[in-house]
Amino acid sequence: MKIAIYPGTFDPVTNGHLDILQRAASVFGEVYIAVAHNLHKNPLFTIDERIEMVKRCTSQYSNVKIDQFDGLAVEYARQVSASVIIRGLRAISDFDYEFQMALMNRHMNDNIDTVFFMPHEDYTYLSSSTVREIVRFGGDVSEFVPEYVKNELIRKLRSKS
Ligand code: ADP
Repeated sequence: MKIAIYPGTFDPVTNGHLDILQRAASVFGEVYIAVAHNLHKNPLFTIDERIEMVKRCTSQYSNVKIDQFDGLAVEYARQVSASVIIRGLRAISDFDYEFQMALMNRHMNDNIDTVFFMPHEDYTYLSSSTVREIVRFGGDVSEFVPEYVKNELIRKLRSKS
């Protein structure tokens, strides 16, 4: 059984992330969604809030686990005996960065491969940062994130203003 990790900031989780997860969960025996602390990115949501949102949106999968990590994804993968890192590729603009990171990760641990999934076309322009911006300016993100995430965004941004 192949174990994969899906690392990311998930600030917050979007339908694009969930599209990738659905594809990955149907290919791999077990998928760990690894929520990165990534404090240098100054996330809007705390690690606990990001994990809670991911949990609520993925409860239907029996082979998906949610965890957190701080540091190198390859090191986390090794700890949970995963041999695959999952990443999403939206557009060619993601490619440079993801390609560089995949090769660097393989350099650090040749037993771990990065596997890319492409989301449905509807999600190719969707990112957590865009969703945060739309809510900040009062727009509706119902088609981009699950209901719980939408409400959390509204609550969080309201409390900040
Ligand atoms: P990171 O800070 O590690 O890039 P993100 O949470 O922004 O974390 O993204 C995690 C992964 O999910 C990345 O591989 C990213 O390309 C992918 N991803 C983000 N949004 C989408 C989307 N709309 N469609 C497909 N993949 C996505």
